[in-house]
Amino acid sequence: MGSGVIGTACSHFLTELGYEVTILDRADFGSQCSSGNCGNICPSHMAPLAEPGAVRHAVLSWLHGETAVFIKPRLDLSLLTWLYQFARHCTKRSMLDACRANQALLNQSRHLYEELITRFDLACEWHTGGNLHVFLKQKTLATHDRKHALLAKEFLLSGQRLEADELTEFEPALRSDLAGGWYYPSDAHLRPDRLLQSWRDSLNDRGATIVEHLEVTGLATRGSTATHLITRNGDVAADHFVFTTGALTPNLSDQLGCRLPIQPGKGYSLTMRRPELCPALPVHFVDHNVVATPMDSALRIGSIMEFSGYDDRLNPDRLRALKSGARQYLQKLEEDPTEAPWCGWRPMTPNGLPRIGPCPIANNVYVAAGHNMLGMSMAPATGQLIAQMIDRRPLTLDPRPYAING
Ligand SMILES: Cc1cc2nc3c(=O)[nH]c(=O)nc-3n(C[C@H](O)[C@H](O)[C@H](O)COP(=O)(O)OP(=O)(O)OC[C@H]3O[C@@H](n4cnc5c(N)ncnc54)[C@H](O)[C@@H]3O)c2cc1C
Repeated sequence: MGSGVIGTACSHFLTELGYEVTILDRADFGSQCSSGNCGNICPSHMAPLAEPGAVRHAVLSWLHGETAVFIKPRLDLSLLTWLYQFARHCTKRSMLDACRANQALLNQSRHLYEELITRFDLACEWHTGGNLHVFLKQKTLATHDRKHALLAKEFLLSGQRLEADELTEFEPALRSDLAGGWYYPSDAHLRPDRLLQSWRDSLNDRGATIVEHLEVTGLATRGSTATHLITRNGDVAADHFVFTTGALTPNLSDQLGCRLPIQPGKGYSLTMRRPELCPALPVHFVDHNVVATPMDSALRIGSIMEFSGYDDRLNPDRLRALKSGARQYLQKLEEDPTEAPWCGWRPMTPNGLPRIGPCPIANNVYVAAGHNMLGMSMAPATGQLIAQMIDRRPLTLDPRPYAING
């Protein structure tokens, strides 16, 4: 259930093990959070949002009108519980635990992408060569220096510090008045919608069945085994069931036998024509929390974290903020997008870790959801893990950090 990048990756690895896979989605294949995102495949982004000082920083930024995180004020018990759990995870220990578990999924996925893209000829505008973080203010750069030093010590993260005067030589598309930057050579990028389209074609060729516009509303069980899904078009029987339903997973709590702590974190993107002077690498504009990804066919800018529930309206202020943020770092940016402005719900968990594994409802039901801001980067390793669990094979990664009761 769910044809985003996570469901597609699970289907891929199950097909590879000889399973006959059917993918159901309530919408068009791959059209939700996995389509208009920034497409960075970034092992360097192992740190979760929940880090020491994150709550204080968010409140101060909000008071100064500088925040890229918005919470729509409302009485929503699930959001309040999520925020409370998030605040509890803002400790050094919790952050390092999340980094360790994220890094395992990120590194394995980065390695699997290379193999997958070549072997299955996935046309997705794949580029290796790294990723750049750039800073307007000395203060934010200094905070990042300290964070990098910690991650380099604990997790051997490799990166190169760039001084202000080295930046424009390194990336001529940047303005000359920035404070400095960090270059992360092991990261890569791709165009997410093209990846999903090409992966879909490859799955079709290998016999997978794809059913769109069919919402799963229930799951029938006999004893401790699930037997079929319930949809408005009738029942769908299977031997194993995998829920890869992203930010909508909490709506299926009865089917899973548990409620996962996932909130929709709405993000926005604009896909523009490549400017004459286009960055060669994805660039993260850290003070404004905006990312610009150069694709063969476009320049995509994206970001914003809006906790406004399951609201899929495009707020024009946020779209303006994306453009004005990017303009403070780039020499050139086209005025209008070439494609419709986009928003999607990131599946956000309080500790920054996805939930991957068996569910309490029955012995043949699994979930893989809650990949936060890193679903593109973590999909292959997630799919491989689910396929190995179902096929009772030795697991490539230790699954305990992603247990659904975590
Ligand atoms: C602005 C932005 C930029 C981002 N940039 C990056 C990036 O650079 N790198 C990165 O790694 N990640 C990035 N992300 C995060 C990434 O997009 C998500 O983590 C990822 O797409 C989540 O994938 P998913 O398959 O879990 O969810 P989705 O893609 O949302 O897929 C879930 C699917 O389940 C279906 N579904 C739900 N309920 C049901 C039901 N009951 N019945 C049938 N179908 C159902 C939905 O229709 C949907 O198609 C970004 C996100 C945003 C918003």
